[in-house]
Amino acid sequence: MGPVADRQGLARAPGEGGLSRVFGRKAALGDNPQVSSDARRNLFGLDLSSLGEILTSLGQPAYRAGQVYGWLYARRARAVGDMTDLPKALRENLSAGHDLRWPEVVERQHSSDGTLKLLFRLEGEATIESVYIPELRRRTICISTQAGCPVKCAFCLTGISGYKRNLKAAEILSQVAHVMNEAAPSSPRDERPWNVVVMGMGEPLLNYENLSAALDVVHDEMGLGARKITVSTVGFPERLNKLAPKKPRFQLAISLHTPFQEQRDVLVPASGADAARDILLEAELTASGPSAPPVRAARVAAGLAAALALAALAAWLGTELLR
Ligand code: SF4
Repeated sequence: MGPVADRQGLARAPGEGGLSRVFGRKAALGDNPQVSSDARRNLFGLDLSSLGEILTSLGQPAYRAGQVYGWLYARRARAVGDMTDLPKALRENLSAGHDLRWPEVVERQHSSDGTLKLLFRLEGEATIESVYIPELRRRTICISTQAGCPVKCAFCLTGISGYKRNLKAAEILSQVAHVMNEAAPSSPRDERPWNVVVMGMGEPLLNYENLSAALDVVHDEMGLGARKITVSTVGFPERLNKLAPKKPRFQLAISLHTPFQEQRDVLVPASGADAARDILLEAELTASGPSAPPVRAARVAAGLAAALALAALAAWLGTELLR
């Protein structure tokens, strides 16, 4: 949630691992043609099952699919030719009908503090942004989930400029891969952990299935722990509800902007009748799991009452709205 450029601002923007469960897992990434005049099929974005079908058609044993999958997502190869543990003949056969395309970067903005903003062009001329944010003890990648945003928050340029479409899972995932590759060459021995924050263009919960598939690969293949992945949302109670059974359980950041529903109707118009109170209660149940005891929810309600009182005090003092 939240536009990369307009809400965070480049100068003010905040703050790999093992190949696990490659065999047998099936990320529903979907096909990812990307912009190209090349008729070859793009391998980036294919799941293990689809890769298995391709490699079987080339007369290869099943384990080759796992090797290619690892090159695509854990090792972030940029060409079939980079997959050096595949036999040369297989690389040539695979390249004849397939290649490996990521969205095109059409603009790079470097900041003096090391922050890098990338503007990508996707199919259909949609553009999105991602940001790399180096900090003392970590490196953060801020990614987008939609081209534009239908939520239309009053303060947000992305919302005001309109909504084009949801990103495919592969388009979400490719932002992480691309930023990692852009950042790594300048500091190959950099051991600061990666973080991914879903705070770019779009409301993540409105593109939940694709986001979920992409983040599963970020977690399983790129090696980021669940606590290193944060999904930021304005909060839709019924969609927060979908997160409860989700494993791994990523971090959730909810931007209420104000706990007062009448203000929220103005600031976040698409939130409709979703009361701030419902959002917080749902978030707590999401964090606790579906079997959270009622007493826990009651405690949240009590906490919310305190938060409301604080917000009222903040408003009375003329200070910034609580988030
Ligand atoms: S939900 Fe959409 S409109 Fe609101 S701040 Fe985030 S990107 Fe902007």
